[in-house]
Amino acid sequence: MENITASEIAGLGVGALLFCATVAAPKIDSLISASQRSSLGMCKGCGDLRMIACSRCKGLGMVKGEPFNLSIVEDLYQSFVGGEVTARSVPCTKCQAKGCFSCPDCS
Ligand SMILES: [Zn+2]
Ligand SMILES: [Zn+2]
Repeated sequence: MENITASEIAGLGVGALLFCATVAAPKIDSLISASQRSSLGMCKGCGDLRMIACSRCKGLGMVKGEPFNLSIVEDLYQSFVGGEVTARSVPCTKCQAKGCFSCPDCS
């Protein structure tokens, strides 16, 4: 958790509980294998978090622009002015800006 920035927390904006859950999900994923989960009686999909973090926005609910919507003009503008100035966050369309999905296995 030490590599989470304040802007990521602010970007989530749906409370610390959901934040922890969505961040913990991939960590639990790597720490506990599916077979270990089922032997522990945990959900194979989410490790009993009842939600899975959105793979597109990493659980933030926002993504920096749409890669396919970035025009060449905007690319040029960013290279002249600086990426951070024009970089804009848009709601993630994959998860409807929620940052996570209900776990299909246990919800
Ligand atoms: Zn589940
Ligand atoms: Zn998303």
